[in-house]
Amino acid sequence: MPSMPLKPPVPDLPRYRDLIPGATVVSQDAVQPHTGGWRLGRKPQLEASRCVNCLLCWLYCPDCAVAVRGTVVLGFDYDFCKGCELCVAVCPTGAISMVDEGKQLPACGRVG
Ligand code: SF4
Ligand code: SF4
Repeated sequence: MPSMPLKPPVPDLPRYRDLIPGATVVSQDAVQPHTGGWRLGRKPQLEASRCVNCLLCWLYCPDCAVAVRGTVVLGFDYDFCKGCELCVAVCPTGAISMVDEGKQLPACGRVG
C-alpha cells in the first residue's frame, strides 16, 4: 500500500508585501442609507423597566439602530431601524415589543 503524505502540499502563495493593496472604507466615508424607510408598518418599542442591559439587541441589530449610552440601552434610532425584529427575538427578558408605526414613542426609551 502506498504511503500517504503526512501534510497537504503548501500552495505557492505570494508574500504579503507582494499583494495588491485593497480599498479601505473609513466610517465617516461609508454610505449610511436610512434603512428606516424599509419598515413595513411596525417598529420596536423598549420597556426600560424590563431591560437588564445585556446589550444582545445592540450586538445583533444589523443596522446599529439600538441607541446606547455607555452600556445602557436608550431605545432605537428609527432613521435606521428597518423593523426586522431581530432585537425582539434575542432579548432574554421580553423588554422589546413591536408596535404599530403610527404609535408615538420617545426617540429613546430612557430619555425623558
Ligand atoms: S427591529 Fe431591532 S434589530 Fe431590527 S433593525 Fe430595528 S432595532 Fe435593529
Ligand atoms: S436584549 Fe433586551 S434586556 Fe438585553 S439590552 Fe436589549 S432590551 Fe435590554
